[in-house]
Amino acid sequence: MQLLTRHSQFSLLHSQSSYQFGFLDEYAKKEIRRSLLKAVAIPGYQVPYASREMPIARGFGTGGLQITLSLLGSDDILKVIDQGSDDSVNAVNIRKFIAETCPGVTLTKQTSEATIVQTRHRIPEIPLKLGQILVLQVPYPDPLIVVEPSEEKRKMMHGEGDYARLWVKLYEDMVKFKEITISHRYPTRINGFYVIDPSPIPRFDVPKLHQAEALYLFGAGREKKIYAVPPYTNAEPLSFSDIPFRVEDFTDENGQRRACDRCGSTTSFLDELMNEIDKKIYQCSDTDFCNSQLGGQNE
Ligand SMILES: [Zn+2]
Repeated sequence: MQLLTRHSQFSLLHSQSSYQFGFLDEYAKKEIRRSLLKAVAIPGYQVPYASREMPIARGFGTGGLQITLSLLGSDDILKVIDQGSDDSVNAVNIRKFIAETCPGVTLTKQTSEATIVQTRHRIPEIPLKLGQILVLQVPYPDPLIVVEPSEEKRKMMHGEGDYARLWVKLYEDMVKFKEITISHRYPTRINGFYVIDPSPIPRFDVPKLHQAEALYLFGAGREKKIYAVPPYTNAEPLSFSDIPFRVEDFTDENGQRRACDRCGSTTSFLDELMNEIDKKIYQCSDTDFCNSQLGGQNE
């Protein structure tokens, strides 16, 4: 009995100290990389894959994390952000996990020096360059879910490029509200065919997908789907010829573009905050961009 207890204690200690590099086993990583290659070869197509159990709950970025872990080599430089911030809980925990399971990988907060950026809800302000990869965490991969509950039928609609019901949904918005009310997850046509859900990024970020230098990869862990927007690919948000797509409006009551309260930028995506005296203030949601505008070192 005592021997058995000692043995199991040893096994536990042993297993805790010997993570596979990148946590996932090599077969799992190989399968994900194959799915990624297919996703790149057919831009916007949702490739099914065998999503693995991760030591975080589904819905906290397991899809994005599995892509990142499959791609990371020990010479990579990784940045993790959540809502534009490097220091929010989700980003901090994913960074800690990577540090523990991927020895050698350098962690950074600077967008320009990262080889891979994993993100939730934002695309960085600083344009990504050729060779950089942005991995987005996706809760719902299929833009047709709002009009068709059956996955089987949705697959046929995608295959036939039949997005008529999505167009009707956008038109109904126009009739009811005089504008398209979708604030995030804006349906976007990739390479002239498949329409994707670009994950819950604001409309402000959607044009960054168009003819970009970087590779954009999307991972939905719970829904077991991977898709991609390769470099130099057309990405067009759905819109009507007489009602063009438009991004969030940051003009104030005097018609002036609001500026970041911290760095003064008038070009970035702003978060609305309340200060100590309950007055609304605006700050860049991308903390690395804000710091770099201030000329400060991003610690
Ligand atoms: Zn700022």
